[in-house]
Amino acid sequence: MSQYQEKTTVLRVEQFSSENYRITFRSPDIARVARAGQFVMIKAGQGKDPLLRRPFSIHQTSSSGQLQIYFKVVGRGTDMLARVKVGETVSLFGPLGRGFQIKKSGSSILIGEGWVLHLCFFWRNQFAVIKKNGNVTGI
Ligand SMILES: Cc1cc2nc3c(=O)[nH]c(=O)nc-3n(C[C@H](O)[C@H](O)[C@H](O)COP(=O)(O)OP(=O)(O)OC[C@H]3O[C@@H](n4cnc5c(N)ncnc54)[C@H](O)[C@@H]3O)c2cc1C
Repeated sequence: MSQYQEKTTVLRVEQFSSENYRITFRSPDIARVARAGQFVMIKAGQGKDPLLRRPFSIHQTSSSGQLQIYFKVVGRGTDMLARVKVGETVSLFGPLGRGFQIKKSGSSILIGEGWVLHLCFFWRNQFAVIKKNGNVTGI
């Protein structure tokens, strides 16, 4: 599986609540090879603060080379990420992780909770997602 370090451009920043955000990057190399369940490591700031990249699941990709993450602000790195502006450059590394293999026949159910659910958008037309509390969410 190929991995890339890409200087991506921020295409869109969406704020859903005081601490929940979705960012769309132009990331053609990573988007081309990514599978559901994989994640990217993102350099939140431009300098050495914060020093380490932060991991984020890949929310969705598109055939036009867009890649989305959906995240909650919990600390310094995510706070900086929430402040990026459209047109800025952000370094992504990935995709990482094993991802999911999808069977061509038969039925499958993907079970998760919390922010793990948002990566299910990758399979929005193929899965019913059952949350732990028993509610069924169709995506
Ligand atoms: C594979 C993977 C995929 C992930 N995907 C997602 C995703 O899709 N969306 C998402 O929202 N998150 C995701 N996460 C979690 C995300 O990576 C973290 O929320 C993020 O790295 C936090 O970075 P930060 O710099 O904002 O927080 P940090 O500053 O690193 O803080 C992290 C936590 O530690 C606490 N903390 C920090 N300093 C202290 C201290 N001195 N004393 C006590 N507590 C402290 C903070 O309050 C916070 O809760 C994923 C994690 C992994 C491992």
